[in-house]
Amino acid sequence: MSEKIFPIPRERLQEIIQKYPTPFHIYDEKAIRENIRALRHAFRWAPEFREHFAVKATPNPRIIEILKDEGAGTDCSSLAELVLSEAAGVTGESIMLTSNDTPADEFQKAIDLGAVINLDDISHIDYLEQHAGMPKCLSFRYNPGNLIEGNDIIGKPMEAKYGLTRDQLFEAYRMAQEKGVKRFGLHTMVISNELRSDAFIYTAKLMFTLAAEIKEKLGIHLEFVNLGGGIGIPYRPEEEPVDLEAVGQGIREAYNDILGSHGLTDIAIAMESGRAMTGPAGWLVSTVLHEKKTYKDYIGLDACMANLMRPAMYGAYHHITVLGKEKALADHVYDVTGSLCENNDKFAIDRKLPEIDIGDVLVIHDTGAHGHAMGFNYNGKLRSAELLLREDGTTELIRRAETLDDYFSTLKFPGSLMI
Ligand SMILES: *Cc1c(COP(=O)(O)O)cnc(C)c1O
Repeated sequence: MSEKIFPIPRERLQEIIQKYPTPFHIYDEKAIRENIRALRHAFRWAPEFREHFAVKATPNPRIIEILKDEGAGTDCSSLAELVLSEAAGVTGESIMLTSNDTPADEFQKAIDLGAVINLDDISHIDYLEQHAGMPKCLSFRYNPGNLIEGNDIIGKPMEAKYGLTRDQLFEAYRMAQEKGVKRFGLHTMVISNELRSDAFIYTAKLMFTLAAEIKEKLGIHLEFVNLGGGIGIPYRPEEEPVDLEAVGQGIREAYNDILGSHGLTDIAIAMESGRAMTGPAGWLVSTVLHEKKTYKDYIGLDACMANLMRPAMYGAYHHITVLGKEKALADHVYDVTGSLCENNDKFAIDRKLPEIDIGDVLVIHDTGAHGHAMGFNYNGKLRSAELLLREDGTTELIRRAETLDDYFSTLKFPGSLMI
């Protein structure tokens, strides 16, 4: 079980809503700090542990800054994310660029910042050299393909667009060595929103074995092995959070067994967790505008898919509580909807909740990662504000809500003087 708690008392939230109208996402600084500390603690045995926070989860410089303060760097997948990192004071090899189908300007910016570049394809070596030059430290993203068939842990890497095959990987290190690169890392990302500890240990074994082979066959002593992100969170109250201590200890054993027997016990462990750092530390707060009773009972919110895509996109579960009715009996069944002209704009379908009244405030849980970040403007819907609940209990506006002017700012209206 994972208890679904909202850290702000009702009266306080109502004050916040007076100042910042709903909908908005609010993030809990204390919880974010606790999440990164727990991750670092699980790997305290490693000679070096690096967390590159996956910026795409919550691309806000204030959040990156908090994580930086706890020792994290960033994992960037676009030019904008590189610029956000820089704005938050994360530069140099604290940044890892893990992008795919990468345009030249991303490579150039990453080189300017002194980032570690993690290539998604063997053909990118020449492209990178031509367009930006080689970085001091280069990494490759491994895709194990069907080499691990029969496992029920990793999905189907053969179907994933990411990474290099095993043969390409060895060839790629060789090519990069010829081009004068001297410092290397190794990366993979084969699991997503995974709750089973074994999945992470399995991935680590695969990667440590590969690191030892790279040493044997190419003489390359890797500086780090990056195990990717993908640490899941219990979106459903009946799910258990990942036991990070068990993951850390399992990976420690694999590290000692595999890398230990090859004299490679100075290799740093890196991860690029996004969801597990910020996901459970964020909530989408929304007000009930309408109730509609047809063939079903619909609760219409002032938030919509533009603020949180996951339910519509993945059928994902997000827990919902009704402010002030946390203890009330969940004896009503509702579809909780947004206002988009899309029938999948629903935060919950057939959800048992207490009786809801118009004007009630609904708190949608676990929206801190891949929530606001995925927002879009379809139907002319505007993206919400983001607030930070600071450790001292005060709130800070860390992104204002979009306005119609923002939405129209790229248009050229007929007859207008806009250019
Ligand atoms: C999305 C992504 C992550 C973060 O994944 P989480 O599920 O948020 O931990 C890390 N690395 C890469 C390459 C990604 O694409």
